Amino acid sequence: MKEPLPASRIERIVPIMMQIECPYCGRRDETEFSYGGEAHIGRPTPDVDDGGWVRYLYFRDNLKGVHAERWRHGVGCGQWFNALRNTATHRFVAVYRVTEPRPASPEGDAQR
Ligand SMILES: [Zn+2]
Repeated sequence: MKEPLPASRIERIVPIMMQIECPYCGRRDETEFSYGGEAHIGRPTPDVDDGGWVRYLYFRDNLKGVHAERWRHGVGCGQWFNALRNTATHRFVAVYRVTEPRPASPEGDAQR
């Protein structure tokens, strides 16, 4: 009978799934979440011109470093929440409810 593989060997064979902290449910596999785009984007007033709507709908900063994003825990609680994520390392720095203010990033913010 074959010996079971040691955990360190299994980790090299099977990629480890990233996990995301839901502020309502706790830590879950990344496959339960959906990316919702950049957070804290203010909706323009109804009288804004077409260029204002185009900027609101389609233009994003796409920065390298820590920035705020919207995420949804679709396979769990279904709630939207915000996260600070480092786009260079893909590491989640903080998660917070949409009703909470953006926390300070210990890694600093992305540079424009
Ligand atoms: Zn959740």
